This record gives sequence, structure tokens and C-alpha cells, in this order.
Amino acid sequence: MATPLPADRLVAALRAEGVTVVEHPGWRTHHRNHAGAWGPVTGVMIHHTVSSGTASSIELCFNGYEGLPGPLCHGVIAKDGTVHLVGNGRANHAGGGDPSVLQAVITETYGDRPPAPRVHQGSPGAVDGNSRFYGFECVNLGNGTDPWPAAQLDAIERVSAALCRAHGWGAKSVIGHLEWSDWKSDPKGFGMPVLRDRVQTRLGKDPAKATPGTTKPAPPRLQPFPGSSFFRKETSSPVITAMGRRLVAEGCSAYAVGPGPRWSEADRLSYAKWQRKLGFRGSDADGIPGAASWSALKVPYTK
Ligand SMILES: [Zn+2]
Repeated sequence: MATPLPADRLVAALRAEGVTVVEHPGWRTHHRNHAGAWGPVTGVMIHHTVSSGTASSIELCFNGYEGLPGPLCHGVIAKDGTVHLVGNGRANHAGGGDPSVLQAVITETYGDRPPAPRVHQGSPGAVDGNSRFYGFECVNLGNGTDPWPAAQLDAIERVSAALCRAHGWGAKSVIGHLEWSDWKSDPKGFGMPVLRDRVQTRLGKDPAKATPGTTKPAPPRLQPFPGSSFFRKETSSPVITAMGRRLVAEGCSAYAVGPGPRWSEADRLSYAKWQRKLGFRGSDADGIPGAASWSALKVPYTK
């Protein structure tokens, strides 16, 4: 059980895992916290929308419908793999579910699947899932034949891994709605045990690397994070030049000339732009590199 991630940290965790994130207007203050608890959280729940079309699915999940006000999840995962954030806090996605499933997720003690749920929203003994799970709605008709594109499955894997990594969970903290409530069938069209295998494999690697199913040559070696103190000293290093070139490539340049090897105020201002692009704010976006933003920047190894 863990404290839910604040919005900035959620965005940064997703982007560091290689997720393409779109912040839907108003999502940061959109929640159901007035209707019940949000947190402590224990896992991630995957759903399908029973809808088609990205824009209309986002609207549905942001606004909800009569009898079920939005947000209906935290993020909508489109068919192209883009993740649109629509809620930040308690969301109407999980409903009531099986306490034995909750326990199995908390302890991560089950085999391929958690125990089959025997309860649903409103049944005696059902426990509140909306306080315990992040929810992601995947755009799919849910009829078993609507395809799940590779990019969408890849995004589901990355979103799940990002939250597990941020909270120190294993892949058994990721379940489908059908594993929570005996009334539910989502997600339909792929197996949660297979998804959990993919998430667990990803958790064993550095974030934002290796797209499954591709056989590209090994990626170029990356410069390890040299530590924040490296940048607080009067420093001249080819690592600074390599960093600056990556900042320029990411559209985060504050350079009038350069970049060059000597750490400068232009480097700091450029790096602060990068931190804000990742979703960091305040002192987390002071322009002094930290481990997470450095890893996401993918600075080529120089020496
Ligand atoms: Zn669902």
C-alpha cells in the first residue's frame, strides 16, 4: 500500500518509462475525492472502454455519464499508444470487488491469476476498489474481435511498469477489471497473465529501453548519471557538451551559443526546461540534473 503519486510525479514516471503522455485540460483537478477515499493505493487496474474513437472515448472517460460521473479512470490508452490523462485522484473505474483479490494483490501472492472474484459492486462483502487502484481505460469495443494494436499493448505494458516501478511493486499488482468483479469482462482480447509477464520483464530492465518484438541492434551506450554534485562544481567535461546537444534535440535550448563543455547558466536554464517538459515543478525543476531526468534524456556515452 502506498501514497498515490502527485500529478507531476505521475507524468514524470510515465514519460521516464517511454510513454507518450497528453494532459487533457483540467485533469489535474478532476477527481471524486469528495465521494470517498483516494489511497493508499495498491495496484493498477486495466479496462476497455466499449467505445471507439480517441476523442469521444476521452470525453466519455473525463465526463462520465448519467449515473456514473467522471473521471472514469486516470488515463485513456488510445489505439496508437498515446496516454491521455483525465483524472487525478479517486475515479469511478473499479467499483466494488473481491476482498480476497485485494489481499492477493497487496501481498502479490498468487500464481498466473488472482483468485476468481465472487463479488461485484453492491454485493455483500465487496470492498471499494476506487480508493485502491489506478485505473486505465483502453479504447476497444470489448467484443473480443476489435484488434489490440501492438502500440496500444506496448503502452499498457509501459504504464503498468511505470506505476509498479514508482511504487516498488511487482507485476502482480496489475490486474484486469474482470479479475476484480464477477460482473466484468474487461479487458477482453488479451490475457492479463501475458501482460503481467511483459510488465515483469520490463521491470527487470532500465526504463524507456527495448520495445518488445523488435530486433534492433543494441542501443548506443548511455552516459551514466554523474551525480548532482558534478554539476554544482565548476565543471568542464565532454559529458556537459553531450548533455547540451540532447537538450537542444529535445527542444529545450536556452543557449545563445554552444552548447559547450563548461557547465554554465545556459546549461542550467536548458536543463530546467527539460525537467519541466518531464512534468517536474518547483525545486524539482531547478536545472540541476537528477537521476530520473538524466535517465530520460538518454545522453550518449562519451567517456
Ligand atoms: Zn472496467
